[in-house]
Amino acid sequence: MTAPRRRVLELLLAAGEPVKAYDLIARFGGDGQAAKPPTVYRALDFLERQGMAHRIASISAYVACAGHETDHAAAFLICDCCGATREVATPAVEGLDQAAITAGYVIERTTIEAHGRCPACLSAA
Ligand SMILES: [Zn+2]
Ligand SMILES: [Zn+2]
Repeated sequence: MTAPRRRVLELLLAAGEPVKAYDLIARFGGDGQAAKPPTVYRALDFLERQGMAHRIASISAYVACAGHETDHAAAFLICDCCGATREVATPAVEGLDQAAITAGYVIERTTIEAHGRCPACLSAA
C-alpha cells in the first residue's frame, strides 16, 4: 500500500466514525499541513474498492470498514440524531445480489444506508 493510502486509512481508523473528505485532507499532514485533495480522493477510492473503507453517500462521509478484509457490500445503520453509524451484516444484500443476477446486472459496489435513531438517542428521548 502506498503511503497516502496508509495515511488515509490510519486517519479513518483513528476517527472511529465517519469523516468528511475535507477533514481528511486537513488532517492528512498531521502537523496542520493539508494534503492535495486528489491525493486523498485517490486513496479513498482505492480503499473503497478494496473494501477497507466505505463511502456513506447520504452523509457525504467515509468510514473505515468494521472488519471485512475483502471487497463486500456494506450496510449501515445511521442515527439522524447524534450521527452514530454502525456497519452491519445483512441478508438483504444477498437478496439484492440475486435480483441483480436475475436482471442481468453486475454489481460493483453496494452500500445500504438505513436512517433512524440509535439506542442511546431512543433512551434519551
Ligand atoms: Zn465493511
Ligand atoms: Zn443517536
